[in-house]
Amino acid sequence: MKLIVVSNREPYRVETVRGRTKLEKTVGGLVSALEPVLRKEGGVWVCWGRKGQKTPLEVKVTSNFLIKHVPLTSADVSEYYYGFANDTLWPLCHMFINRTHFNNRYWLGYSRVNRKFAKAVSEIYSPGYKVLVNDYQLALVPKLLKEQGIKDTIYMFWHIPFPPYFILRFLPQRRELLEGMLGADVIGFHTQHYVQNFQECVREVLGAFYDDNAIYWNGRKIKVKAVPVGIDVNKWEKLTEEPKVVKYAQNLRRKLGVEYVGIGVDRLDYTKGLEEKFKGIGRFFEKYPSFRGKVSFIQIAAPTRTRLEEYMDIKRKTDEIVGMIEGRFGEPGWVPIYYYYKNYGDDRLASFYMIADFALVTPVIDGLNLVSKEYVVSRKREDGVLILSEFAGASVQLRNGAIIVNPFDEEALAESIYIALKMKKREKRERMKALREKVIKEDIHWWLKNFLEDVPA
Ligand code: UDP
Repeated sequence: MKLIVVSNREPYRVETVRGRTKLEKTVGGLVSALEPVLRKEGGVWVCWGRKGQKTPLEVKVTSNFLIKHVPLTSADVSEYYYGFANDTLWPLCHMFINRTHFNNRYWLGYSRVNRKFAKAVSEIYSPGYKVLVNDYQLALVPKLLKEQGIKDTIYMFWHIPFPPYFILRFLPQRRELLEGMLGADVIGFHTQHYVQNFQECVREVLGAFYDDNAIYWNGRKIKVKAVPVGIDVNKWEKLTEEPKVVKYAQNLRRKLGVEYVGIGVDRLDYTKGLEEKFKGIGRFFEKYPSFRGKVSFIQIAAPTRTRLEEYMDIKRKTDEIVGMIEGRFGEPGWVPIYYYYKNYGDDRLASFYMIADFALVTPVIDGLNLVSKEYVVSRKREDGVLILSEFAGASVQLRNGAIIVNPFDEEALAESIYIALKMKKREKRERMKALREKVIKEDIHWWLKNFLEDVPA
């Protein structure tokens, strides 16, 4: 398959040290999902190269996997990335209307950068390439590519929730946004619910018609599909067998010195429900004092979009609540929550998943959530309990097996931890078996096959 992937996020941070190019994988669901595919099958990845002027324009990762960077100016970065993408579209699509900021400069920057991306794609495109445009940062690119005469199928995958019309209508540029997306021939979302929201929006804003699988607009038929992204199961299974990963896990488990360990891995984003999660943990220790000293929880909170006020705000609140729980329940020799504000590589994450008796994945809203799937795949012995928010897109796939919770319900969160700890071995096994079957079957290759191999009728 000849594939051009277009995304804001670069799959690697590129550094040139004494003439040698160093590649360091970046954090995020999209990269975790698609990087292994291009590594295996080859192709071109068009993305923003973060380091500015010094970033090489093109980097060869393997003999047939090329990265093409789109250089952005500091005004581009402020207006497009920190502005329209992450200060307008991200909060709006996650229905945080009170954290959504509208600003026409943001929009102008976003349009300008989308044109830069489209131009970069057309420079390397040749007939026979499928083009896969990713996510909310690049909504205008499909239309621009179509206008440039690209004849091959253009795919667009929207990795975050798509909001209902009563939310999207707040956006002054809702028409341009939808028209941009409809330049694609196939548009994918993680869940049927997001598909329905999108259909409702194109009907209300553009007057387009639709049936179950398609939108009819401007004389064209655009397919729409719900295909949740899967993970690279092979990679995670192999990681859990690597001696250094196993050794680290064993040492850590011993050092923690508690009977039970819980894990949480999130970017520090207000959508991830960290405050709610910590409140639930606090309530658990309050309600079940016999577990004090016996359960420790490890929370990785990976820094993200740190320049935005909304993210500084959530960091302050999260720091504060962790401090309150430590202060209230912690004792010499026992830490209730180990809280790490940093990025970890896959190998470390695999060790964390391996030692955790339960995972708390409790976003208040999340397009999908790959962490829940990574935890499941790392539980080869079919033990461990997944506690999952009903507001994560992944809950559609994982509801048979996970303990499903509403993260706003502090009492239910506390109770879910108790249930996980008290669960009989047999039930744990049955649940984890069901989860593993689903995640293993619907992996990243399943996603690619179901999404990309679908050509428009
Ligand atoms: N991740 C990582 N290092 C970290 C934290 C997270 O590599 O320190 C990865 C994690 O393994 C997962 C992705 O980032 O693959 C997060 O994806 P998810 O869908 O859970 O949430 P998103 O960040 O895309 O909203």
